[in-house]
Amino acid sequence: MPQIQTTSYNQVIQNLKENYPLDSLNTFGISVSARYFLELNSQEELALLPEILFALGNPKLLVLGGGSNVLLTQDWEGLVLKNAIRGVEKEFENAEEVIFSFGAGEEWHQVVMFTLAEGLSGIENLALIPGSIGAAPMQNIGAYGVEIKDVFHSLTAFDLETEKFVEFDSEACAFGYRESYFKREGKNRFIICSVALRLSKKFIPHVAYGAIKDTLAQKGISVPEKPIQVAEAVIEIRQSKLPDPKVIGNAGSFFKNPEIPLSLYESLKAVYSEIPHYAVANPEMVKVPAGWLIEKAGWKGFRDGEIGVHAKQALVLVNYGKGSGEELWNLALKIQADIFEKFGIEIIPEVNKF
Ligand code: FAD
Ligand code: NAP
Repeated sequence: MPQIQTTSYNQVIQNLKENYPLDSLNTFGISVSARYFLELNSQEELALLPEILFALGNPKLLVLGGGSNVLLTQDWEGLVLKNAIRGVEKEFENAEEVIFSFGAGEEWHQVVMFTLAEGLSGIENLALIPGSIGAAPMQNIGAYGVEIKDVFHSLTAFDLETEKFVEFDSEACAFGYRESYFKREGKNRFIICSVALRLSKKFIPHVAYGAIKDTLAQKGISVPEKPIQVAEAVIEIRQSKLPDPKVIGNAGSFFKNPEIPLSLYESLKAVYSEIPHYAVANPEMVKVPAGWLIEKAGWKGFRDGEIGVHAKQALVLVNYGKGSGEELWNLALKIQADIFEKFGIEIIPEVNKF
């Protein structure tokens, strides 16, 4: 390996691991390893990445945050970079709002709890989503009618092509439904190192989703007065419905909810009168829950050896222990083909396969 004489380079490279197990770094718990593994803790360290990659012979790069939205199907022959940049800074405050910037390696749920402790609202519906804030803009994380784009101010990322740090505003991120520029054109080019959110001092509750309304009603709350009440309801629902990755390997929803033409929905409704649907921006289209389609097709609770479909939530594929990424991917493909055959709807994976 060539010797580059900078102290910080030497400090960083000392932490390089070889043939490193990734089992505990992905929430599916898939047992694969990385040829090289490195944890980066600051922007200064990140700026050294081109030198590091050069020294290693320019291997393929995989950036990981919490590993809660990836399916690893094979050993990674290149470098796995764990983004562990921490920290929080107040960038702006006025009577209505505060802008906080967070290091990309901060845990998303801790960010939510921090903003609630500061008396701010905006991301209470997104409580208990696993992973790092750095990965959150990747798929414009969303739950219960709120998405990160609703509070997003800007982010800073390292551009591997120009080897410079660049700032993105909301428009440049081109957020969509579980989508962004970083999941499409910008894939594999940018490493997000900080994310700034615009949080509100005024609380406007978003409680349109039935589960939130019902859970609040059980507590005798018809209109929540504080964002923490919504966060607590969300936490309760999620804990009762979703498998804990520490207990059963999973990456949350495996597929996105499809948006289908109204005409297709009408023809399906003639056969399945109970098929749920929700309005989307385009009045010619409706959103149908992928979980409903998968359950209706008979996959809920399906198990094949070490892998399967969760018994309480058909949208979640699970690894009971020793399943492989390849097996899970093949199961996903089978489900995808079956849904197309039965309903004429293509469901697209949300999880990032490597
Ligand atoms: P990772 O899985 O580590 O990475 C995801 C992708 O982003 C990969 O392609 C990776 O290369 C890339 N990436 C990671 N960090 C960076 C970075 N700093 N810069 C550039 N690229 C990067 N998602 C939702 O939207 N809503 C939910 O309600 C939700 N619920 C979930 C519930 C459970 C139980 C689980 C397991 C997952 C859930 N998810 C949900 C999915 C997941 O938690 C989110 O997508 C989360 O943002 C992923 O964060 P992460 O740090 O784990 O990303
Ligand atoms: P749910 O309440 O059983 O509803 C099923 C689907 O119908 C949801 O995914 C949601 O779509 C849609 N939906 C329900 N009520 C709606 C409304 N009032 N308006 C518009 N759409 C509505 O869903 P769930 O599986 O328990 O999940 C609850 C929330 O957490 C959802 O927002 C879901 O996306 C999110 N979640 C995401 C993941 C992930 O990994 N991505 C994992 C678990 C939960 P949307 O998905 O578009 O909201």
